[in-house]
Amino acid sequence: MPVTNALPVVVVGAGIAGLCAAGELVRAGRRVLVVEKSRGIGGRMATRRVGGAVCDHGAQFFTVRGRAFGGLVTDARAAGAVDTWCTGFGRAGSIGGAVEPAPDGHARWRGTRGMTDLPKWLLEHLAADGHGEPCLVTTNAKVASIGVAGDRVMVAVESEGRAATLEAAAAIVTAPVPQALDLFAAGDATLDVEARVALGTVAYDPCFALMLVLDRPSLVPPPGGIQFAADSPGPLAWIADNMQKGISTVPALTVHATGDFSRAHFDAPPEAVTAMLLDAARPWIDGDPATVVVERSLHRWKFALPTTVLESPLVVARQDPPLVCCGDAFGGPRVEGAASSGLAAGRWLARRLTT
Ligand SMILES: Cc1cc2nc3c(=O)[nH]c(=O)nc-3n(C[C@H](O)[C@H](O)[C@H](O)COP(=O)(O)OP(=O)(O)OC[C@H]3O[C@@H](n4cnc5c(N)ncnc54)[C@H](O)[C@@H]3O)c2cc1C
Repeated sequence: MPVTNALPVVVVGAGIAGLCAAGELVRAGRRVLVVEKSRGIGGRMATRRVGGAVCDHGAQFFTVRGRAFGGLVTDARAAGAVDTWCTGFGRAGSIGGAVEPAPDGHARWRGTRGMTDLPKWLLEHLAADGHGEPCLVTTNAKVASIGVAGDRVMVAVESEGRAATLEAAAAIVTAPVPQALDLFAAGDATLDVEARVALGTVAYDPCFALMLVLDRPSLVPPPGGIQFAADSPGPLAWIADNMQKGISTVPALTVHATGDFSRAHFDAPPEAVTAMLLDAARPWIDGDPATVVVERSLHRWKFALPTTVLESPLVVARQDPPLVCCGDAFGGPRVEGAASSGLAAGRWLARRLTT
């Protein structure tokens, strides 16, 4: 469908929500510019090399319930980008306590070589799905503010020490909501009052992710993941064995701390946090961690998981010109919630810009 308006839509963030939103706009014939502040794409669907190992350190797996996301995952699987991992993980009630197998028959999915494989596959599709209209994805480019001038959205971007202002017909913002609100405030954008209030209620838990490369297989039981009960007394929320998961040829664990622990120790020295998490993970390390752990890396997620999820899959922060917020705090949480929200926001905006 050719579109006459030459101004692009700017999508802030190349996580799953941003890439899904961009895909819908491109398929509707819109010119889209995705601006991502990190070096790579995927956002919290993040995979990292640590020594010789490969570790997912953000999202660990995803589930598929809805039809729209299901269709996309079916295509991604056919292309070899994603596969099923298992049908449930062990559950532990206390540190070092017994791990009860808890398969529930519902598939848990993973990227074939790591969680970033799904966003990478989506990115390839952005190029293939365009109707002659380009979709540009720029990384290492941080949006500093989003404002409005007449019927245009003004997006200030900083990249490699240079600043530029993009003019757009609309913007979709997938940054965590507190950061999105900061961008609107920095651009003096007046928001719809109801939307402003709803967005103001969204909060997130932080999360420490500790990656440990081992010199031998771990003691995490098959299929390679343990979920800790929410009332479990220790600092752990999750442990994964990246080798059993099938993404690493070298034994390596990903350890996630609880929201409470991560909040309490957010500004503590990384060595101290690493020592506490390593101590809690000891029961799943076969031998003395001082020798078995050959590499370690700690990552700190400030906005890991939303603790409030708004009912609507998108919030129109302002109608004219449109400023739309979406992501995992809208409609449903996690990877599937974020993808569904991005698809809904892209579809909504594509319709809105043609009427
Ligand atoms: C530790 C952890 C464990 C998790 N475990 C699971 C799990 O097992 N299963 C599951 O389904 N989900 C899990 N999640 C949640 C899942 O990762 C997210 O729900 C989902 O990836 C969110 O996607 P998104 O596109 O909404 O946001 P994001 O992935 O956060 O994407 C937003 C993007 O915007 C970019 N951005 C932000 N500000 C700017 C700016 N100013 N300029 C330019 N770019 C900007 C960011 O760099 C980022 O790439 C986990 C998350 C974490 C952190």
